[in-house]
Amino acid sequence: MKEYQKIKGTQDFFGEDALKIRYVEKVASNLITCFGFQEIQTPIFENTEVFIKNVGEESDVVSKEMYTFKDKSDRSITLRPEGTASVARAYLENKMYANNLPLTKLFYFGPMFRYERPQTGRYRQFHQFGVEVYGESSPMLDCDIILSAYSIFSKLGIKNILLKINSIGNIESRKNYSKALRSYFSNNIDNMCEDCRRRINTNPMRILDCKVDKDNPILKNAPNIHDYLTDESKQYFDKVLSYLDQFSIPYEVDYNLVRGLDYYTDTVFEFIIQSDDELNGLAMGGGGKYADMIQLMSDKDIPGIGYAFGVERIIAIMNKQNIWHDLSYKVDAVIIGLDELSKLSGFHLAQELRMHDLNIEMDYNHTTMKQQFKLCDKLNPKYIIIIGEEERKSGIYQIKDTQTKQQVGVKKEEILSYLKNNK
Ligand code: AMP
Repeated sequence: MKEYQKIKGTQDFFGEDALKIRYVEKVASNLITCFGFQEIQTPIFENTEVFIKNVGEESDVVSKEMYTFKDKSDRSITLRPEGTASVARAYLENKMYANNLPLTKLFYFGPMFRYERPQTGRYRQFHQFGVEVYGESSPMLDCDIILSAYSIFSKLGIKNILLKINSIGNIESRKNYSKALRSYFSNNIDNMCEDCRRRINTNPMRILDCKVDKDNPILKNAPNIHDYLTDESKQYFDKVLSYLDQFSIPYEVDYNLVRGLDYYTDTVFEFIIQSDDELNGLAMGGGGKYADMIQLMSDKDIPGIGYAFGVERIIAIMNKQNIWHDLSYKVDAVIIGLDELSKLSGFHLAQELRMHDLNIEMDYNHTTMKQQFKLCDKLNPKYIIIIGEEERKSGIYQIKDTQTKQQVGVKKEEILSYLKNNK
């Protein structure tokens, strides 16, 4: 018989791996709530146009990596490659700007899809945790956003994180810079990849982000964005850095950081892990400010800022740094019934205890002590509750503590409080 295999670049998560994803989600969402964020859940797929318009036609994500297909009504649909465009679409469609107070702060968690070459830390389906803020522009807000990401990493216990930060300027700065890049690259373009040769006309800043030409000296010697920033953008960036200096976040200004998506303006940043193994330099997440993204989709001039991090990468780093606390599946009690009627009594007891948040297991098919103890060996519960004819008649069930090996008789009605008090 044919055995099916998962699609290349996807993963099955079960046991401890599934618990790790939930743990990261819980820590991140609990902490971000303290920063004033509320959750948003958007569809996994959107009209393709949503991503083209927002992320930018020239970005790798849109031009090469999207899972796009036609539905049965011939509409072009795309599995979301990232969260920002969908959240912006939802923000506008649901008119959330009507009650910006003064900010709308949203967070999301869920799978993203990119047709990339699968390798360590790079999958075709992966999870992102991300945030978006709409409504105001302020260097203090930029710092607060960066601080919120850094705080999540700290809460998770991750060490050796480096923040790389840059300003790619406001729209005016970017126009001046694009002009300078176009003129610089037009003399050097022959040695560069086909994509870069096209980008020189469409979006020369994207050349700086090219994966093929990343070590090409032509790229390394390209004009620096900082020489083209307007005074306003320069002052803005200096302020962001001065706020960051107030907190103990290690950062490095990286003039070559432009980020892969088109919607950014001014502050852009990335969190990198520093280690002495193959994970060194791995990007855990990043983001930036976008002054004009909402305007691209509507007539509203509302600034935004956000970031996203990759949950699988966070987990890989936490594995490497060995910082997980015990996530293993814990059974409070296994109930053993030594005859059909006793099993039925156990079944009722299990239901009652489970409704009080206790994790209860039972054997469905066997009535001998030996067979049911096999299940206990496998599940390693804190207690084993034993019910036989005598226990059923007296209403006093036997409870064995698997650590101390002591066994006591407890009245049926008192089992719940006994387990709760001794949890
Ligand atoms: P981006 O939206 O490209 O800025 O990505 C933000 C973060 O998502 C990255 O820093 C990674 O941690 C994670 N990420 C992006 N693409 C992938 C992928 N293909 N597989 C796993 N994680 C990814």
